[in-house]
Amino acid sequence: MRKKIVAGNWKMNLSLEEAKTLGDGLKAEMDQNKELFVDGAGSNTPEVVIFPPYVYLTGMIDLFKHHDGVSVGAQNCHHEESGAFTGEVAASMIRSVGASHVIIGHSERRSQFGEGDKLLAEKLKLALKNDLTPVYCCGEQLPEREAGQHFQVVADQLEQGVLWMEKDQAERVVIAYEPVWAIGTGKTASPDQAQEMHAHIRKLIRDSYGEQVAENISILYGGSCNAKNAGELFANPDVDGGLIGGASLKVEDFFTIIKRRKENG
Ligand code: PEP
Repeated sequence: MRKKIVAGNWKMNLSLEEAKTLGDGLKAEMDQNKELFVDGAGSNTPEVVIFPPYVYLTGMIDLFKHHDGVSVGAQNCHHEESGAFTGEVAASMIRSVGASHVIIGHSERRSQFGEGDKLLAEKLKLALKNDLTPVYCCGEQLPEREAGQHFQVVADQLEQGVLWMEKDQAERVVIAYEPVWAIGTGKTASPDQAQEMHAHIRKLIRDSYGEQVAENISILYGGSCNAKNAGELFANPDVDGGLIGGASLKVEDFFTIIKRRKENG
């Protein structure tokens, strides 16, 4: 059974004090609502993954180390193993501090840092080699959707990013569908738009790897998902959770989204 996941991408936000306050607040909510997160048979308990900036990784890993339901990941990694890459961070380093996930191919990395498919494939290889779970982001720009090209754009991104992998690698990837026009804009994909794209992604996985991998792979929605709209997005059969930006910076909002994921098992 595939995992339900609610992931918080903090991006380049928060001072150390603010990050601690957010982490502490989230931990307190998780502790006070333990009954929501007790696994039962066929559990729909969501895994929570937070993606703080690199410098706060170890602090958050320490904070949540006794919390089974919360994992910590990095927002990016470099595409080489190691070497003279001033200012960069390797997948092996991220793993060595105890992080479990890494976001790869976020649209902000693609557009602001010119990260293309070939480079992203190198990052994915290193993430898998270092036992990290990659959260691979895909999604179309607004003009591409308006031109009716969105299914093809996402298919191409998956082809380059995931569909070349061996089956045992592909099933370790989490996919995040994030229409670029919805990220940080307050415009969310409608539940129908999200469902049809997630079903399309699952079909592409099924065509390449068969039913079992398609059924087991988690596909998250990202793009202005918030405490108000999370419930209707998560009610769709192929939406397995969310990658949350802005709303992950507020304890109450993020925790409400976690609850919505649980309710829509
Ligand atoms: C994101 O950056 O991955 C994201 C989904 O951001 P927001 O929720 O703020 O749109």
